[in-house]
Amino acid sequence: MSNKLGKVIVVKLGGATLGSHDTAIEDMVELQKQGKLLVVVHGGGKLITEWLSKQGISSRFVQGQRVTDEATLEVVTSVLAGLVNKEIVAKINGLGGKAVGISGVDGALIQARIKDRELGYIGTVVQVNLTPLETILPSGYIPVVAPIGLHSFDKPDGDPLMLNINADAVAGEIAVAIGADSLILLTDVVGICNQSGNLLPQLSPGEAEALMVSGVVSGGMIPKVEACLRALSTASNTSIIDGRQPHALLREIEGQGVGTTIKGD
Ligand code: ADP
Ligand code: MG
Repeated sequence: MSNKLGKVIVVKLGGATLGSHDTAIEDMVELQKQGKLLVVVHGGGKLITEWLSKQGISSRFVQGQRVTDEATLEVVTSVLAGLVNKEIVAKINGLGGKAVGISGVDGALIQARIKDRELGYIGTVVQVNLTPLETILPSGYIPVVAPIGLHSFDKPDGDPLMLNINADAVAGEIAVAIGADSLILLTDVVGICNQSGNLLPQLSPGEAEALMVSGVVSGGMIPKVEACLRALSTASNTSIIDGRQPHALLREIEGQGVGTTIKGD
């Protein structure tokens, strides 16, 4: 392994599966008991939309990304780094596991710049500072990361200090930086489907790329495929799995495919 920690598994919990991912949390606790090193990154899509509408703020999506003005950013940060993060950490700890919740801002873990002015305060990861993870993991805790980044690069005066970042991208960049053995993205579809809607259980990086080019992979699936392709520079295995299936995470790790695996050609 390319890092000093050992084999790390990076898991991303999809926004849509939040709330129905209790078996994923049980699986994490079980994997932790087995001595596996896990880093968890979560989204929060549906809950953010709910809280934005409570505040009378409507959401617009461009290329699967939420356009983020300052008011939206406040809600995004509060919901992701607050409610969603703490709920996951509380559940892990409640089941006898050990977890610490942080965001990409904590310990300057995720350093970012604005991705595209048109999308507002959405960040792209420039640098990952592994120190917080290298501190938390050997202490026996699962770091649970909310995808908020520090606005560290090219920040105009007056711009917010934090940026909203797609959780798939954060998971992918953490996987690359830490030299993860695998990246597993839990979502609320069966995996990557072809144009007829049938699951594609296994793809090469070239095939995955072609599905993005042809538009078969679109919207929220794009950052997932991109994260897998990035992670494959160090990971031996990346997968996008159906988090609605009971124990999808454990089953995937035990080798019973429950979605799409993207692996080297
Ligand atoms: P998450 O909260 O897990 O990040 P997203 O909604 O962002 O979920 O991304 C998953 C969505 O990607 C699916 O619900 C589906 O609408 C969309 N999608 C686009 N292309 C595909 C494809 N080829 N196969 C499966 N889902 C796809
Ligand atoms: Mg998404």
